[in-house]
Amino acid sequence: MRKKVIAGNWKMNKVLSEAGEFMDLIVPKAPKGNVEAIVCAPFPFLPKLVEQAKGSEVKVAAQNMHFEDSGAFTGEVSPVMLKDLGVTHVVLGHSERRELFAETDELVNKKTKAAFAHDLTPIVCVGETLDQREANETMNIVGEQVKQAVAGLSNEQVAETIIAYEPVWAIGTGKTATSEQANEVCTEIRKVVAEVTSTEIAEKVIIQYGGSVKPANVDELLAQSDIDGALVGGASLDPESFLQLVEAGT
Ligand code: 13P
Repeated sequence: MRKKVIAGNWKMNKVLSEAGEFMDLIVPKAPKGNVEAIVCAPFPFLPKLVEQAKGSEVKVAAQNMHFEDSGAFTGEVSPVMLKDLGVTHVVLGHSERRELFAETDELVNKKTKAAFAHDLTPIVCVGETLDQREANETMNIVGEQVKQAVAGLSNEQVAETIIAYEPVWAIGTGKTATSEQANEVCTEIRKVVAEVTSTEIAEKVIIQYGGSVKPANVDELLAQSDIDGALVGGASLDPESFLQLVEAGT
């Protein structure tokens, strides 16, 4: 049985005091057991949030990183720095980074390898645009993104990779993919993973859905055969709403 993984991606929101208040509220209440709660926060909040999460099962993630360990990369943050802080996960290849910061599949692959080199769990985001969906290219686009992201990883590393299927047209739009639409693509992702590794490995991979997930639709999404969690933007900003989402994973 795969566990459920609920990750809140705050994107570029909150200030430090608000981030601290959020953690104060959720850490004592977050359910334990077969569900994992991850808070994906902006870099400046990470040391404080890791400190606040200590002794609990709440995990803290970064929303991006560079793939090099150190050096002349002004403005970048390395996997070494994240690991040193006690961060456990890192979101890679979010569609906003692909679209607004020109991240390619090749770059996402380098970052994914760098994450494993430093014992960070990557949450790799994939997803099609509305144009691509309407042109019936969803499976090809998403399949290719998955293959390229995990290229060169060992089977054990692929098994540890969290893949987040986030259709670009459903992000921040209030338009959720229907649970059937979401599951169809997640099933295809698992098939692609099985092709490049094995069925056994593919069965272990956590595949999240993301795109306008909220307490009102999370149960139906999580009930699907190949959806093992959610990567949530807007609805993860409010602590009560985030706790409800995590609770839905129990
Ligand atoms: P929303 O939940 O706000 O649609 O954002 C989804 C997302 O991009 C999470 O990474």
